[in-house]
Amino acid sequence: MLALVGGSVAYLFYFNGQPVQLQLGSESSLRVPLAALLLATFAIGAGVVLVGGLVRAGATGIYRWRRRRNERHRSRLEGQAKEGRFRLWAGEHEPAIRQLSRVVEQRPDDLGAVLALSTGHAVRGDLDSAHRLLESARAHHPRDPRLLARLAQLALRRSNSGAAVDYFREAVSLRPTSPRLLAGYSAALEADGNFKEAAAIAKRWAEVERDPSRRQEANERWLALRYRDCLPGGDAGTAGDLRAAIEPLRRLTADAPDYLPAQITLADALRAAGDLRGAERIYRTAAWRAPHGALLDRLAELHAELQRAGGAADRVLGVLKSACDGQTLPGPRLVYARRLITAGKLDAAEAILNELGEATDAARCAPERDLVAGELALARGRDHQAALLLARAATGGHLPFAYACSRCGREEKTWLDRCRCGAYGSYEWIIA
Ligand SMILES: [Zn+2]
Repeated sequence: MLALVGGSVAYLFYFNGQPVQLQLGSESSLRVPLAALLLATFAIGAGVVLVGGLVRAGATGIYRWRRRRNERHRSRLEGQAKEGRFRLWAGEHEPAIRQLSRVVEQRPDDLGAVLALSTGHAVRGDLDSAHRLLESARAHHPRDPRLLARLAQLALRRSNSGAAVDYFREAVSLRPTSPRLLAGYSAALEADGNFKEAAAIAKRWAEVERDPSRRQEANERWLALRYRDCLPGGDAGTAGDLRAAIEPLRRLTADAPDYLPAQITLADALRAAGDLRGAERIYRTAAWRAPHGALLDRLAELHAELQRAGGAADRVLGVLKSACDGQTLPGPRLVYARRLITAGKLDAAEAILNELGEATDAARCAPERDLVAGELALARGRDHQAALLLARAATGGHLPFAYACSRCGREEKTWLDRCRCGAYGSYEWIIA
C-alpha cells in the first residue's frame, strides 16, 4: 500500500515537477511544484471527507447511546411501577405509594402508575391527594374514560355526587356501550337524587351487559330505580305523603306484578288513603303468589284495624288462613295463630301451636313460638306462664318476626322496602 502511494507520488512529481505560482494575496505569492499543489488539494479533500465521516459516526453513536440509556430508564421505571402495583395489591400501602410516587414524578403521563397511586392515596383515606393527582393527569390524558371514571368514583366517595355525574357523563359520551361506565353513571345519578335518569341509564346498562349475573343485577337496579322514582321525596321507607305515589305505583305494578316493594307500598298508600279493600286485594293476591312475611304482617295489621273499626275482620282472617295453608315453614302459621288469639279463637290457635310441635326448626323460630304461646297463655289468664314465655321470647336469638337484609345481614324490627346497603326488597323474615 505504502509502495503504491510512494510510486504514485513519485510518478506525479516526475511528470509535474515544474513550479507554478500560487497567488495568496494581491502582493504575496508562492511558487510550488504543480504535483505538490495537486497532492495538497487531494489531502485537503480527503481530510474534509474523513472529518465529516467521523462527525457523523459520532452523532449516530451519541444518539444510539442516548436511546439505550432512555430505554434502560424506562424499563427501570416500568419495573418500579409494576412492583408498586403489586405491593398495593398485597396491602403494603406505604412502600407502594413511595415507589409509585417516584415513578409518577418522572413519568407523569404513565396513566397506569397514576391510577395505581391514586388508589393508594384513596385506600389511605387521603382523598384530596388522590383527586389532585388525577386532575393533574388530565393534562396528559384529557379524554380517557378510565381516568374520568376514577375521578367520578372518587367524587362519590367525597359525597360530591354532582361532580361524579359530570365525570361519568363525559366518560359515557366517550364509551357509550361500556356496561361498567353505565353502571357507575346510574349509581352517581341515584346518589344525586335523579332517579328517573338513573333508571333510564340502568336500562341501557341492562341492554349492553353480556355477563348474565350482572345483567340480572342491572335489571333489578332498573326496577328498583323506577320504584324509587315513584316515591315522594325523602328516604324510601319513611311514611311521607304516599298519595301522590299511587298512580305511578299502579303503572309500575302493572309492568312488574312480581315486584314486592311496589306491591306493598302501593297497598300501604291505598290503606293510608282509606281504601282498605283495595289494599287487602293487593296483599291477598301477592300473598297467594308468595306468602312473604311483610304481606302476612300487613294482613294481620289490617285484621286488627278492621277489628277495631268493627269491620269485616273475619274476611281478612280467612285470607290469612288461605295464605298459610299448605305452608311448610312455621312463620305464616305462627302469624295466623297470633291473629286467631286476638280474634278470640284460642282453641284454633292452640291447635296450630301443637301442630307445629317439635318437628319444625326449633332454634330458628323459638322466639316467635314463645311469643305466640305467651300471648295465648295471657288470653287464657295464665299470667305466670305468659310472663315466662314472653320474657323468653324477648331474650331469644332474634326479635320475634324480625327481618334481616339478605345482602348485608342488617336486622330490623319491621319490613323496610330498602336497606341502608342500597338493596331494594332485600328484607326477609329471619324465621322464613
Ligand atoms: Zn342490606
